[in-house]
Amino acid sequence: MISKIHILEADIANKIAAGEVVQRPASAIKELIENSLDAGAKKVVIIVKDAGKTLMEVADDGDGMSADDALLAFQRHATSKISSAEDLEAIVTLGFRGEALASIAAVSQVEMRTRQAANDLGTLIRVEGSELKEQAPVATEPGTTITAKNLFYNTPGRRNFLKTRTTELKNISDVVTRMAISFPEIGWTYVSDDEQLLDLKPSTSEGRLSDLFGERQFRSLIKLRQVSEYLSLEGFIGKPDFARKSRAEQFLFINRRYVVNRALNHAVFQAYEHLMVKGAFPFYVLNLTIDPKRIDVNVHPSKLEVKFENESSIYRFVLSSVRTTLGEHDLVPSVTFDPRQAAPGTDAHLRFLQTERMQTNLGDMLTPTQSSTPDIDLGRVFRNVERRIGDDVLQRDGEATFPADLRKPAPVPPDRIMQHKPISSGAEQLSIQDGKPIWQVQNKYILSQIRTGLLIVDQHVAHERILYEKAIANFENSLPTTQQLLFPQTVQLSASDYSLAKELLPHLEKLGFDLKPFGKNTVVIEGIPADVRAGSEARILQDVLDEYRNNEHAQTIDARDNLAKSFSCKAAIKAGDRLNTTEMLVLIDQLFATQMPYVCPHGRPIVVKISVDELDRRFGRT
Ligand code: ADP
Ligand code: MG
Repeated sequence: MISKIHILEADIANKIAAGEVVQRPASAIKELIENSLDAGAKKVVIIVKDAGKTLMEVADDGDGMSADDALLAFQRHATSKISSAEDLEAIVTLGFRGEALASIAAVSQVEMRTRQAANDLGTLIRVEGSELKEQAPVATEPGTTITAKNLFYNTPGRRNFLKTRTTELKNISDVVTRMAISFPEIGWTYVSDDEQLLDLKPSTSEGRLSDLFGERQFRSLIKLRQVSEYLSLEGFIGKPDFARKSRAEQFLFINRRYVVNRALNHAVFQAYEHLMVKGAFPFYVLNLTIDPKRIDVNVHPSKLEVKFENESSIYRFVLSSVRTTLGEHDLVPSVTFDPRQAAPGTDAHLRFLQTERMQTNLGDMLTPTQSSTPDIDLGRVFRNVERRIGDDVLQRDGEATFPADLRKPAPVPPDRIMQHKPISSGAEQLSIQDGKPIWQVQNKYILSQIRTGLLIVDQHVAHERILYEKAIANFENSLPTTQQLLFPQTVQLSASDYSLAKELLPHLEKLGFDLKPFGKNTVVIEGIPADVRAGSEARILQDVLDEYRNNEHAQTIDARDNLAKSFSCKAAIKAGDRLNTTEMLVLIDQLFATQMPYVCPHGRPIVVKISVDELDRRFGRT
């Protein structure tokens, strides 16, 4: 009987294998560049014609190959980079499979010139469709130049599958850009159809990003560096007001290899939670350094994906690193009076032009406030504010450390918890004695001077942020501060609110409520969170339950986050509440002790700054 199964001829087998590695010009270019980098190149020149379809050339000044190696390099599974199975466990080079050159040569017409610096002459090799056509000594510069012409000339089906010139060229440009970002110490030249698209001198990461994205975009980036025992994360993240409309400008590298990883992308995104409007994506360039033993890069034919030994801990590390860095920086949107003067490229959502409000008669709105003797260290409060709202710093001093857990803000000492005392009058005006004026405007906004200008805080959302973080901290660990009521209050709830309250009881207790379900849809409130005004406990409980339901319909958030949001929103001081100076100072102090003092849990801005420059411009001083 004739057997049905037979071994494929080498030619067909090679073409099939090539399909895995070389799907399009960009993937061939990527492999060639990786080889140049692995060979220690300091300069790489990439030339393409017709988006790589007719010609792709990658030239480097790396180590080059001996004549023997030059021939071997085109064999399948020929590699100088690993030799044992153990080596595969800890890949330190970009390539390791020994398939790229064989694959490219299987589906195109390849010419290679290579020379090691120690040799006078180099080697020329021509291979077409896996067939060796020529091997000869050649005079050439040290390094390697590989030219691949007419990709898929012998597999017309695949050639037809190539996309338009624009798309294929964009793919190549993406590859080159990623490489250029990840290897700033290397010089890059990129030419397409005789047009020089990039010419990058060796530089620092900063210099490279500024070369690639422009000085202005670069200025809106925050430097990030977080180190833990096993991991480090370094790079740049965009300020929220520099958000992009697509994910195109998100660059994640692992040990300098560009990768696509949904989980880690999500971790970065998550760190921007509440900082960006829907449909916006943060810009970032991040490189995660990890022991190569702890990852597997051998899971994807073009090495675009990696597997981690412990993905969830890496997720948490990335999330907290980005969150910390964002929290440490001045993300305060600046008010510009004239919308046309708003810096281009800045999205409107955080810019928050409050033109109308600002332009009403300021004199009428300013209410000098009286204070009871403040018992807080003013110097410290303002140092804290200045520390967080400084100039637009890109770099912070000192080593960054890996925070234990960001969801746990430092518990607020009881004496710093907001009290809602009635305003006492008659005391000296603080602004005069300290030189740091603080004003309440229309019982809604707090106005103060900072080094770089004028700071305006929305009192309600500021308090909301403080209470939200306290609530989250309470859920996580700390003991709630409960004020026991002298006269417990019995509250009648609807049947569904009653069951909701019962369901949320453990969480409500963590917030500081002391509730006893009494049956017949009534609960007895025996104690309330320290931040809730006595007398308003029944209303706040009802409001929190209502708000919880609203949020539940609106979005999918977890119960505790929902409760924290509902509580902070309902228990916070309102617009219209008059505050004395001490209360304002305590509020500002606590606000700038939070993780994210700039945006409330619902995404509204808390703080707006008017720079001295803007004022100068406004008054024609510039
Ligand atoms: P891999 O990179 O996985 O080892 P390749 O097929 O890409 O496999 O390359 C095969 C071998 O050819 C490499 O291991 C390397 O020794 C050599 N090589 C390829 N390109 C270059 C280059 N530009 N400079 C020096 N050596 C190279
Ligand atoms: Mg390779």
